Amino acid sequence: HADIAMYAAKRNGRNDYHFYTAAMEANAQKEFDLENALRFALMRSELFLEFQPRVDTSSRKIIATEALMRWRRPDGEVCLPDVFIPIAETSGLILGMGNWVLKEACRACKAWQHGPLKGVSVSVNISQVQFVRDNFLSFVMESLRETGLPPHLLELELTESMLMEPSESIQQRIAGLSALGVKLSIDDFGTGFSSLAYLRRFAIDTLKIDRSFVMHMTDDPEDASVIHAIIALAISLGKRVVAEGVETVQQATQLAALGCHEMQGHWLGRPGDVGQLAQLARHGTKSTTPRAAQG
Ligand code: C2E
Ligand code: MG
Ligand code: MG
Ligand code: MG
Repeated sequence: HADIAMYAAKRNGRNDYHFYTAAMEANAQKEFDLENALRFALMRSELFLEFQPRVDTSSRKIIATEALMRWRRPDGEVCLPDVFIPIAETSGLILGMGNWVLKEACRACKAWQHGPLKGVSVSVNISQVQFVRDNFLSFVMESLRETGLPPHLLELELTESMLMEPSESIQQRIAGLSALGVKLSIDDFGTGFSSLAYLRRFAIDTLKIDRSFVMHMTDDPEDASVIHAIIALAISLGKRVVAEGVETVQQATQLAALGCHEMQGHWLGRPGDVGQLAQLARHGTKSTTPRAAQG
């Protein structure tokens, strides 16, 4: 097993150098195979989206969703983004895939405006590689125009590193996006760089608190403090704040007490298809079902 060989090699030092290279070669081969398979994913329609609800903390209603990319391999196995996004980014395949996600998310959101999900927006994760391309803004415009989705129902999830020392053209791009009426959020907030200057420079609408802080907030006072501070910061800057990875009623209760606007996580609803999302909207999420909420 490659990981074990690598671990053993590191522990034993130089003598096991051959182990280490064997493991590296095995890994490189695996990535190469994955990249080759990924090359066909788009044209063979192997990519699909799941949507995870974002729930308003006080009303417990679904007000937004996050589109999450999935890859169904020819053998039926569903591959998750943590495995294939890094490869898609280094190979450049993310450009085509990311464009597909953007348009598909707009199309889906436009379609659900006629049912129980009326008014529910969609957010799309944007990779740095995509964001820095000159045609990014025009592709967003094209997606909105072709699908007829009102811009305020589309949110783009950026990361802190994209907003560090942005070039003139990136600054114009951000201004252009917010002029369109598209919402912008910062994903995994708190895990990136420590400069917060970009928060007042750019029209960021929403901060999404990274799951790693939420995970331990009920037993680690320091994580609780970080969350407290992020919520206070967001509120005082007039931004919305979302907690990611909410898994327990205890976390939800504490987040509500801190004034967090929205929650996303397994306790509210796992990523699923539009049917599952509509089901949650009609019959309520776990958090609105008293019996489930107690358990
Ligand atoms: P993210 O944007 O932070 O998305 C949230 C991730 O946390 C998702 O993982 C979601 O399934 C997971 N999650 C949600 N609630 C919970 C919870 O309560 N507990 C736990 N343990 N996990 C939870 P997923 O779908 O595997 O995606 C991983 C990352 O891949 C995403 O993190 C995002 O950065 C990236 N990604 C996903 N779709 C796309 C895409 O279309 N384009 C790009 N560029 N990146 C994407
Ligand atoms: Mg995200
Ligand atoms: Mg992300
Ligand atoms: Mg995140």
